[in-house]
This record gives sequence, C-alpha cells and structure tokens, in this order.
Amino acid sequence: MTSYPAEDNEDRMEFLLALRRRGISNAAVLRALEEVPREHFVEPEQTREAYADQALPIACGQTISQPYVVAYMTEQLDVRRTDRVLEIGTGSGYQAAVLSKLAREVVSIERYRTLAERARARLKALGYTNVEVIVGDGLSGAPDRAPFDRIIVTAAAEKVPPALVEQLKEGGVLLLPLGPHRGAQTIVKLTKTKDGLDREELIAVRFVPLLAGQAREL
Ligand code: SAH
Repeated sequence: MTSYPAEDNEDRMEFLLALRRRGISNAAVLRALEEVPREHFVEPEQTREAYADQALPIACGQTISQPYVVAYMTEQLDVRRTDRVLEIGTGSGYQAAVLSKLAREVVSIERYRTLAERARARLKALGYTNVEVIVGDGLSGAPDRAPFDRIIVTAAAEKVPPALVEQLKEGGVLLLPLGPHRGAQTIVKLTKTKDGLDREELIAVRFVPLLAGQAREL
C-alpha cells in the first residue's frame, strides 16, 4: 500500500471540489477521477503539480490534459458500462484509465512508441486490465477492433477523420477538439444517426495537434 502525505490528500480533496465547482456533476465520472491516481501519470518531477488543474508536459513534447477537460469530456462522452470505447492520443494513459473505470473496454491509439509503451506498462502496473494500447495512426482508427460505442480524440483535429465516423456504431458518440492547430479549438460532439451526424459545439479548448502517421521518432 502506498500512503500519501496529508498535504497530498488535501490536494486531492481540493481537486474534486474544484471539478464540482466548475460544473462536473456526474457521480460516476467524479468517482473515476477520484480513483485514478494522477500522480502516477505525470513525470516524476511534477508529482507536486499532479492535482493542480492544469495540463502538464510529458515525454515526446506532448501533454497530459488538464483534469477539468478530462472530466468534462468524459462526462460529455456519456459512457455506459457495456460500452467499447476508442481513444485517439493515449499520451500518459490518464484519460484511458479514467474511461476504463466506466466502460467495458478501452482501446487507445498513440503515434509515439515511447509514450504507448510507457502508458501500457503504467496501466498494467496499476491494474487497469480492460485497456489496450496500440501504436499507430489514430486517424485510421482501429478497423480490426471496430465498431465502437464511443470515440474520444484527445488531440486537436482540423477536420473530422472519416475513418472514425465509419467505426462508430449508430447512436454512438464521437467527441473531439476541432479547429486549427495553433488557433481556437472547440470540443465538438457528433452523434451518429441513421441519416448522418448530429453536431453539438461545446467548450473552447487548446490541445496538441492530431498529426497524421505514426511518429518517426521514438
Ligand atoms: N489523453 C492523453 C493526452 C494526450 S495529448 C492523456 O490522458 O495523457 C495528445 C496525444 O495524441 C499525444 O500523445 C500525441 O502524440 C497523440 N497523437 C497525435 N496525433 C495522433 C494520431 N494521429 N494518432 C495517435 N495519437 C496521436
């Protein structure tokens, strides 16, 4: 058993209170964020900041998203117990861990091998057995694992990737930050209907870019 100093527990209490104050109300989502130990997903020199409401740098020039944005997107994704979820952009594996608490199964794709391997090892060590991390280009989705009930993209796309729409079940939700790589991005929620896609624009955000192809660097 790991025990945390009292000040860390205070950080975690404040972390949850801040999420509630900012309007996160879904009990299952709040519980998932309470249960996933964020300090294990940040870089060792940043464990003190683990529960601050900010994005933090991870390896390969990427970031672990801000807790509020993770909570907000998870709430909007409206995951059911029986759902199979696809995530594009594993990064640290934190969002995948949160989703794994709510879904039947999570498949997460990362274009950097280093990040994917670290996230895979970390998720395994922490006991998240229903998450599969794949190295590859998320723009193509995971056709051999499709279809999915829910798809979440955690890097900013300039256009909706058609493969992801294809791999979504009817009635399913695709949630993604949409907008120019250096400009204003918006979380967009697309619901697949039998006639096409319903579209809802949500909050303004700033994400690292969704880039085509598996990364050539490690
Ligand atoms: N969800 C992550 C945060 C991810 S940051 C977390 O909880 O920590 C966005 C990630 O998307 C980065 O790691 C980046 O390498 C990855 N990414 C960008 N474009 C991608 C693509 N086409 N396919 C897969 N991963 C991609």
